Amino acid sequence: MDATAKGCWAASLGDCEGKISREHLVSQALFPDGNITVSGLHWCKDEPKTVGLAALTGKILCQKHNSELSELDDNIKRAFETFDESMQLFHVRTKLRSRRWTIKTFTIDGALLERWFLKTLINFSHGGQWIIGEGSHPPGLPNDELVKIAFGKAAF
Ligand SMILES: [Zn+2]
Repeated sequence: MDATAKGCWAASLGDCEGKISREHLVSQALFPDGNITVSGLHWCKDEPKTVGLAALTGKILCQKHNSELSELDDNIKRAFETFDESMQLFHVRTKLRSRRWTIKTFTIDGALLERWFLKTLINFSHGGQWIIGEGSHPPGLPNDELVKIAFGKAAF
């Protein structure tokens, strides 16, 4: 492992490059107003807390791996826009008299969506006390298989 890659949760891929960069734990694109209300983490176990998205970052990936996962952020943004679009159409149609509707198809990339959920789970669990995936590896780090899946190099 490259010395600069210490702390990258994808180091098991063996191709870390660049310094450890700061990554939003959850995609910035989902929270355009910059605030997020969180509960369940160690600092907000008892009640939800609203924080700026900038507070939810961690130095957990090298530059190369951080940038390789940006397609997942792009996809989650598109997926939410698609959900919104479909709900808008639903609300418009529920106000109109029922008729034979033109079928409108909305498409999202489910495989990228799954990988986004995994990446986000790993981001939030990184450095914590929990074992992430099966096998014997240190708590707070994903096993090699989950890393490969998050990067699209293996299937769920
Ligand atoms: Zn890396």
